[in-house]
Amino acid sequence: MDIHEYQAKQILGRHGIRVPQGGVASTPGEAMRVAERLGGRRWVLKAQIHAGGRKEGHFEGDPSAKGGVRVLDSVDAVGLNAEQMLYHVLVTKQTGPQGTEVKRVYLEQAVDIQRELYLGMLVDRRSSRVTLIASTEGGVNIELAARRSPSSILRLPIDPETGLRDQDANNMAAQLGLEGNAAEQAARVMSIMYDMFIANDAALIEINPLAITREGDAVALDAVLTFDNNALFRHQDIRALQDDTETNLGELQAAHHGFNYVKLDGNIGSLACGAGSALATVDAIRHYGGEPANFLDVPPDSKVGRVKDAFELLASDPAVESILVNVFGGGIMRCDAIADAILVATREMPLEVPLVVRLSGTNARLALSSLRDSGPPLTIADNLADAAEKVVLAARETRRTNRRGWWDRVQGALGKQQNDS
Ligand code: GDP
Ligand code: MN
Repeated sequence: MDIHEYQAKQILGRHGIRVPQGGVASTPGEAMRVAERLGGRRWVLKAQIHAGGRKEGHFEGDPSAKGGVRVLDSVDAVGLNAEQMLYHVLVTKQTGPQGTEVKRVYLEQAVDIQRELYLGMLVDRRSSRVTLIASTEGGVNIELAARRSPSSILRLPIDPETGLRDQDANNMAAQLGLEGNAAEQAARVMSIMYDMFIANDAALIEINPLAITREGDAVALDAVLTFDNNALFRHQDIRALQDDTETNLGELQAAHHGFNYVKLDGNIGSLACGAGSALATVDAIRHYGGEPANFLDVPPDSKVGRVKDAFELLASDPAVESILVNVFGGGIMRCDAIADAILVATREMPLEVPLVVRLSGTNARLALSSLRDSGPPLTIADNLADAAEKVVLAARETRRTNRRGWWDRVQGALGKQQNDS
């Protein structure tokens, strides 16, 4: 789960990392009031979206090409620039070409920067350790630095037995070329990052830049915090920070129902029981040249109603051009429950795209015969390879015949008739 910069900074501040004073606003007037309350003569106005690269980004349809991070020196300029950002679409390297609408801005007192450092913390899968990443090349060009001179990126895998030891943090600060007060403060930021990472079950903490001021203070000017979804149940305070407007609708529904669902970029929907089986299903679709529209694992103890909700989640995804249901009925999950769910779902909402079903294990024969007798038009496959091949062909057919378009036109016409009569 991602949160906004201003929320991340509140958490950093609570843990004792220095952050600029700031306030959030959702109208230009509010932004101006925040500027007056903060005082001073220079402010930084920052668009709040779940994506980085804001400073180098641009707003859709704004020829001035100014980005989502602006240093301003009057209250009027704060109002004017907030107006230009709020409810406009910000496009950055990380949002993709469609961009993200800005619904909130954050205003801070500007900081006089002498140096910009990069600090990050994540779980490195190769060493299986929480790893501190640091670089002297902080700021907006960190990706470039990582590509041009990988040696400028320092890594420190942390032993879970000892945590981040003071001497290692001090050593890292020295390697970043820091001395005295600045070195002490930066090392302290690293230690706090580690404690925060563990205490909050974080997946990523990124402070970029960590600014070193003329006075030698270390101040976090930008912060990204991502949390492990699987641990959110024990952090209700963090879960409450979720911004639903920034989260995929399907993923929200799935979280509500307790499915493991990840939206992907392709056009083939799939449903499986058990995470391993769902992964294998997605892999098989790719293997046969298809692009999965999602990963969906319905827990094996699900009742018919819940499986039906999962199926509807797929069937209502406009990107989906064919659907594969691949379930091995073993133990708790029985294939007839899957068949019943498909029957109920398609009776309520007729299927618009081809459906391929592969069921085996407990009650598979019963399930397949009831689907054949009273189910929607569907293709039955013998095994996963057969199923994947068929669902990939079916998606191509949907696209070739423009069947989805045809369906939409018919539905549109029907809707119109109903409205006319
Ligand atoms: P990003 O572009 O989304 O990563 O947004 P950041 O918050 O990291 O801001 C980008 C850049 O703006 C930073 O690397 C700084 O160079 C600059 N910046 C951010 N805050 C301040 C500030 O308070 N004072 C000054 N002078 N520059 C700032
Ligand atoms: Mn940044």
